[in-house]
Amino acid sequence: MDSFRQGLYTSSGVVLRRNIQPEGNINIYVFLKEIGPVWLNAPGSAKGKVRFGGATEPLTWGIFQIYKGTRRFYLKSVEVKDDIWLLKKNHEAVKISLQWLKFLSRNLLEAHPDDKLLGILYWSFILLVKDLDPEMVNWRFFWKWLNLWGIAPDLTTCPGCGNLLSRGVWSSEAIYCSSCLSGTPENEVTENILKVLGMAARFSHESILEEHSWFINVRPEIWRLNSRRLVEALERMK
Ligand SMILES: [Zn+2]
Repeated sequence: MDSFRQGLYTSSGVVLRRNIQPEGNINIYVFLKEIGPVWLNAPGSAKGKVRFGGATEPLTWGIFQIYKGTRRFYLKSVEVKDDIWLLKKNHEAVKISLQWLKFLSRNLLEAHPDDKLLGILYWSFILLVKDLDPEMVNWRFFWKWLNLWGIAPDLTTCPGCGNLLSRGVWSSEAIYCSSCLSGTPENEVTENILKVLGMAARFSHESILEEHSWFINVRPEIWRLNSRRLVEALERMK
């Protein structure tokens, strides 16, 4: 935190959390480009001395003007990115994206930038705004996050024997071939599922928008079940 010099900063990012204190002060935890997640103080703003409207709510993406004082960051103004606001119309998408923000709040180090992860998050929001299946985007978000941190399951090669995977079996943290690990109905990944998991994880956001018809027949439970494995891997890191 103190590695940041005093003065004005402008950075884009997203509000992860908001605390409103009884005396009317608002503190928001914002994941910012080149800065990382930081608490921004907006003294008196809940009482209306400084008005930010809904711009301090979690899920708000924008360009934040901030001031770093001797010890704290202060919010000066926010220019909200309106297009992501559209997300709020989709209840399922809101629920899933709030989960992402919760996990980011818990797992990221304060004042340590992770611009690649912020980029993954941003494009995941865009896919939700474009009305792609929120459960599919959820799998993609967590796989990309874990991949960035080097702990995502390999979706093409068995970590036991190095053979290419045509179908697979989940262990607690990776997908093995059926020679390395015997499957049960609960942990088997069929050829088709492995294929769609791989496409959802690896396609560029442009391709996924063009090719989303690949995913329309995948049941939500499939995404949920496999996403849960990724979330568990993230939980185990703590
Ligand atoms: Zn194997």
